Amino acid sequence: MAHPQQGSPARPEPREITELRRLREDQPDLAAAIDLQIELVQLQRRVQSRVSLPSIPLDASSLNARLTCAPILAFEHIPMDWGDLRFLVRATATAMRNHEALEDEDFRKAEQLARDATRLEQVVRAWYEGARRNGAEANEDDGVLGLENVLQQAMRPFLTRAADAIMARIDFAGWEQGRCPLCAGEPDLAVITPAAERLLICSRCQTRWRFHQLTCPFCLNPDRSRITSFASRDGRYRIYACDVCERYIKAYDARQASRPVLPVVDAVATLPLDAAAMQKGYR
Ligand SMILES: [Zn+2]
Ligand SMILES: [Zn+2]
Repeated sequence: MAHPQQGSPARPEPREITELRRLREDQPDLAAAIDLQIELVQLQRRVQSRVSLPSIPLDASSLNARLTCAPILAFEHIPMDWGDLRFLVRATATAMRNHEALEDEDFRKAEQLARDATRLEQVVRAWYEGARRNGAEANEDDGVLGLENVLQQAMRPFLTRAADAIMARIDFAGWEQGRCPLCAGEPDLAVITPAAERLLICSRCQTRWRFHQLTCPFCLNPDRSRITSFASRDGRYRIYACDVCERYIKAYDARQASRPVLPVVDAVATLPLDAAAMQKGYR
């Protein structure tokens, strides 16, 4: 790991961490989840600044051509640094175990994985490409089972770097699917813009793309009488739950908000909404 230069000025704290600390004051009952999230953001920032750009042409016309046979980013094109990934797998698993967010058995699996370079590459590829298998559960023997959250967090700096670079160049116009055009991941959050459009946000790379306001992104059910939508008490968030596939997606309502959507913050802030949705039988 690179060590910070002595005497260099401290980097300003990222917005996510400031907002997570604020959330901790407002909602002390979420403290455990918030502390874990702060630790994960800090770990990812140690790697983020040196991730390189994805190895594909990044001009708009090449990217739009790739969009016709999406996902845009194949596993080979992710700007990986395997040493950094090994560090992140180990550190993420340790942080999650310390906050009781990972079983001991899965922690040991993660530790073994971080020591075995060949297997790590196989398992990460299976995780990345597995998203395309239309929501099918991970196979028992592909090594992903139990490590989905660890891998998602550990891969985040590499995938968000690629997503930021690509989002700066194209807006995914014409992409009408519920899955991420960049990595084929599923959305787990949306944002309602001041223009009342709904953008879905990928759970893996944080790519955002415009999507129909009510249609279910998971089963594409467009029947609004079979979508249950409700807001959080403070009006900041909404849930769209589908009565066909019984899945739901959360949204940050930016129309009257004082800050932009911050996926890592909003994921924690909406834990009570997850509980409410699950109590109603959605998953
Ligand atoms: Zn994605
Ligand atoms: Zn659905």
